[in-house]
Amino acid sequence: MALVNEHFLKLPDSYLFSDIAKKINTFKVTHPKDKVISLGIGDVTRPLPKAVIEAMHKAVDEMAVRDTFRGYGPEQGYSFLIDAVIKNDFVPKGIHFEPGEIFINDGAKSDTGNIGDILRHDNSIGVTDPIYPVYIDSNVMCGRAGTLENGKWSNVTYIPCRSENGFIPEIPENRIDILYLCYPNNPTGTALSKQELKKWVNYALSNDTLILFDAAYEAYIQDSDVPHSIYEIKGAKKCAIEFRSFSKTAGFTGVRCGYTVVPKEVSAATLTGERIPLNRLWNRRQCTKFNGTSYITQRAAEAVYSAEGQMQVKEIIQYYMTNARIMKTGLSETGLEVYGGENAPYLWVKAPDGLSSWKFFERMLYEANVVCTPGVGFGPSGEGYARLTAFGDRDDCMEAMFRLKKWLR
Ligand SMILES: *Cc1c(COP(=O)(O)O)cnc(C)c1O
Repeated sequence: MALVNEHFLKLPDSYLFSDIAKKINTFKVTHPKDKVISLGIGDVTRPLPKAVIEAMHKAVDEMAVRDTFRGYGPEQGYSFLIDAVIKNDFVPKGIHFEPGEIFINDGAKSDTGNIGDILRHDNSIGVTDPIYPVYIDSNVMCGRAGTLENGKWSNVTYIPCRSENGFIPEIPENRIDILYLCYPNNPTGTALSKQELKKWVNYALSNDTLILFDAAYEAYIQDSDVPHSIYEIKGAKKCAIEFRSFSKTAGFTGVRCGYTVVPKEVSAATLTGERIPLNRLWNRRQCTKFNGTSYITQRAAEAVYSAEGQMQVKEIIQYYMTNARIMKTGLSETGLEVYGGENAPYLWVKAPDGLSSWKFFERMLYEANVVCTPGVGFGPSGEGYARLTAFGDRDDCMEAMFRLKKWLR
């Protein structure tokens, strides 16, 4: 008899996006004439940059010819892409990595979910709350999150980020073995200054905590005071693994490419206290369970770093960030409390009059025909908030702001 991994059975089914879809469908059926604008999606909408498309076409043609055909590539990624990553994302910031410290992957979701493979099942976990659900759910699947009690997992420390603390997470009193940080943040759209991030690196160094730093939105940073990489902070190479993605940076959500940085210095302990470099374990894990990102995709990612690619990517990000600015101004004019949107493509809106996230969602849908994502779907501290994304079309963003103003006036 095959037995299931019963930890999976503890996971409540994730109904967030299907519940939203159901409610939108009900609305559409009962209000066939009303056009709904969705600012709920967390996916990009602009097409891929031209430089990326050209690189992909060229790579496809290479695959068609005997002499340039490629089969299996290195599990860790091709050196042309690893070198481009190091040279463009880190060297200009004075950060140096060896090629063996960069692991190319098929997106940050895989690795933020898989990294737990190399860590014991009984480490304690910390997350800022609200948060990208992958971090907690992937720990539930291997039993590391404990049991669900009143909407919280027993082995997870939730670090609340709400308007009361300006969405700046406070250092917890207990120590944490593994801490997930995502900055700029999904869903709140807020960022951490260098000074704030430094506090966490220092906490990690003095508590022997491993930081798993998700920098999927670093390309959206506008303020010079906000670090693009955790390795801009001294000491981070000893305590942090960083996840990057081309998804939001260059529209790769459907192409699939990202990378993980596992510095040679970062280590974790055995029960007897021996220090084991995590780079070695992660390399072993990848070589066993992953056969590399496709050659065509890696050539596409390489093109992001070309001069044209950089220009085109900046233009797309500007488009989304102009949406964000229009939305932030528009939402402020409605009298709603709105956060984020300055270094990230997300706006985090406080529901008025103490409405719950779901009530706010329903009223926005029925009274303004605008779709948001209920904040409580991202964790207990998201209750009473909603997320709006700047990934839509400009006209839709402007029309949505017009409707929200009319609704709340
Ligand atoms: C979108 C997103 C990612 C990127 O995931 P990919 O698998 O690279 O597409 C990673 N982390 C967060 C928080 C995200 O919102």
